[in-house]
Amino acid sequence: MFAGENRRSNGRMDLAPNSDLRIAVLPGDGIGLEIMDACRAILDALEGRVGGYTLCYTPYRAGAALFSETGTDITDEDFDALGHADAILLGAIGDPTVRHPNGTEISPHLRIRTAFKLCTGLRPAKAYPNAPRRLRDERAADIDLVVVRESTEGLFHTAQIGEIIDDLEATEIMKITRPVCEQLFDETFALARRRKAQGGKGKVTCVDKANVFKAMAFFRKVFDERAARNPDIEVGYNYVDAQALDLIRRPWEFDVLVMENMFGDILSDLTAALVGGMGMAPCGEIGRDHAMFQPAHGSAPDIAGQDKANPTAMILSAAMMLEWLGERHDIDALKTAAKVLEAAVSEGFASGRVNPKEFGGPHGTKETARAVIDIIGETT
Ligand code: ATP
Repeated sequence: MFAGENRRSNGRMDLAPNSDLRIAVLPGDGIGLEIMDACRAILDALEGRVGGYTLCYTPYRAGAALFSETGTDITDEDFDALGHADAILLGAIGDPTVRHPNGTEISPHLRIRTAFKLCTGLRPAKAYPNAPRRLRDERAADIDLVVVRESTEGLFHTAQIGEIIDDLEATEIMKITRPVCEQLFDETFALARRRKAQGGKGKVTCVDKANVFKAMAFFRKVFDERAARNPDIEVGYNYVDAQALDLIRRPWEFDVLVMENMFGDILSDLTAALVGGMGMAPCGEIGRDHAMFQPAHGSAPDIAGQDKANPTAMILSAAMMLEWLGERHDIDALKTAAKVLEAAVSEGFASGRVNPKEFGGPHGTKETARAVIDIIGETT
């Protein structure tokens, strides 16, 4: 049990009054289906144990499989419906064998990010006990950082519209805008402050290539303006190439790292590897009015349908969703549920009851979910 909570006679914890929140669920493609099943079972068990909130889930189809069947990757009606949800929970989308005529993969989630202005992509990388650490240095056990990836512009700005000219030249444009940067940096500093309140380092590192690109110098200029409004948070700077080096040399020294879209895409895979692999990489994509939560990994078609996927990233993404909803709607029960879930994952790894096949362990997707549900039952 957590401090300040009372247990009712039926074994459930008594917290805030019930509140119904609508969750749009997009399982997607490949392992998205199985990790979403696992996650939903855990969320239901968690809600039953913690109590004090009600989440209403509505499933929607989106992705490559739907595109293969119908020629559309999400219907207009469903796309609009996502805008009415309190949060979107997504499994994984994409299939390398299903592509648009220009060679790109089916990616409605990129349009969702843009349409709902989900510019702040939070990608935590935290070392869990017994998960592979990849670095021999014992300080790797202290890795606990967040890559904040701007998720709507940068070098992804022209992802849907970049052009190939006369089969001789291809162009994409990196776009950096002040309003998006201000929103991104404000949320980044707020995150660093929340982490500092819980014992974090209270430091934000701006990762860019301001020595070469005008767009990146502008990114840093706006960063400095917003940093001046947050004097309680320490700031640092690193060029993206040096940052890649430092994430191998001394990742335990970093706290919150904020960067352009493509840099964040690449470095967040690197940070996921530092703490085990893609199955450990959750993600929350936050806008002013909407948010989407999904693992940072793709649909992993090489292991889909075999009960081999590690659902941890999906589960931790759901924990991020609960925390975000709790903060946004001021519902303590949701914040508690987030903590219970994260603690159950941590305990699962510490005790060896979660030992995923991704790392050579015996546990498939379903068994991992079962262990997390059992631990939630034992600890609430
Ligand atoms: P995208 O570009 O859509 O992010 P990707 O091409 O980078 O996708 P992923 O689908 O993320 O590729 O898979 C990369 C590798 O990581 C694959 O070998 C895949 O099997 C593995 N992988 C990804 N997610 C998981 C998971 N949850 N559990 C186990 N292995 C995973």
